[in-house]
Amino acid sequence: MKRERVAIIGSGPAGLTAALYTARAQLSTVVFVGKLLGGQISTTHEVENFPGFPNGTTGPELVENMKQQAEKFGAKFVFESVTEVDFTKGSPFLLKTDNGDEYLADTVLVTIGANPRELNIPGERTFVGRGVSYCATCDGFFFRGKDITVVGGGDSALQEALFLTKFGKTVNIIHRRDDLRASIALQVRAKANPKISFTYSTIIEDIKGEANGGGPAIVKSITLKDVKTGQIYEKPTDGVFIFVGYDPNSWLFKDQLALSGDQYMKIDSNMQTSIEGVFAAGEIHDSVFRQAITAAGDGCKAALSAIKWLGEREDKLQPLDTVAVAGD
Ligand code: NAP
Repeated sequence: MKRERVAIIGSGPAGLTAALYTARAQLSTVVFVGKLLGGQISTTHEVENFPGFPNGTTGPELVENMKQQAEKFGAKFVFESVTEVDFTKGSPFLLKTDNGDEYLADTVLVTIGANPRELNIPGERTFVGRGVSYCATCDGFFFRGKDITVVGGGDSALQEALFLTKFGKTVNIIHRRDDLRASIALQVRAKANPKISFTYSTIIEDIKGEANGGGPAIVKSITLKDVKTGQIYEKPTDGVFIFVGYDPNSWLFKDQLALSGDQYMKIDSNMQTSIEGVFAAGEIHDSVFRQAITAAGDGCKAALSAIKWLGEREDKLQPLDTVAVAGD
């Protein structure tokens, strides 16, 4: 079993910033990367609002720079997902990964973020990867010269729709209300783009596909419902990109840490969860701001609290190299 002072679950801007701070404070730090280094931001093509980049940057570049900066101070990156935690006995906490490895950590920072929300309509799951996508950066290239549908009326939908105009012949944004939620700046840009059109007060009821030559079926049309008139009609499309918000990845902790009604993690003003020594940062607790920079700020705060918490119990901490760990 491996032993660390700090275990960080998740590698988005919150986790990477926390790793920089705890590693730089000379605390042995391991980051469990999860399925995708950087999380959601690494699927964002253009990042224009992270301070320090006057010409903008890309999600993958930002993530790589943050990782390198944390590594420079000794943070270790483990490309595995944490599948089990035991917070019930207090610090040190036990973590298990999908590789079967076990770790003991004196403090844990949960920065595991949120996942794209699904529409839960017929055809959605069937056509994922064959016309249905939740990531424009990952899949936009496959829709060169095609007619693309984007679902949602928030910042993500408009920002990704703008990105998709680089590839698609047309991009139609379908929003369930007649009033967009997105920022005015993005609305202005999207409305000025000749490739983008809007269909308001409309929901998708069904995604349909047809066989692609000898290959598997791919998306060909969607069934739409005008929620004001009740009219139902079919519309041809080659791809459906869904950006209707995100759900926190809190399922791993649901029996051990206090969660809000909508499953976000509850924390105090020091970023501490309901268990002493376990801290949280980023979209796992934040359903409001959800920016890379707010997640990074959160990660910093959680790390400083963890450093202080460890400092206060320094006399009780066992040296990492001499500690006897059951199972070793
Ligand atoms: P969001 O702001 O929650 O917007 C989700 C959109 O999807 C809303 O328009 C919502 O409609 C719609 N929606 C939700 N469930 C739906 C369903 N079942 N069927 C159809 N439509 C549905 O989510 P987001 O756009 O992902 O943004 C999340 C946060 O990240 C926000 O705080 C945003 O400001 C931030 N963000 C910022 C940037 C940026 O600064 N450039 C970029 C991306 C995201 P209603 O409006 O009717 O609720």
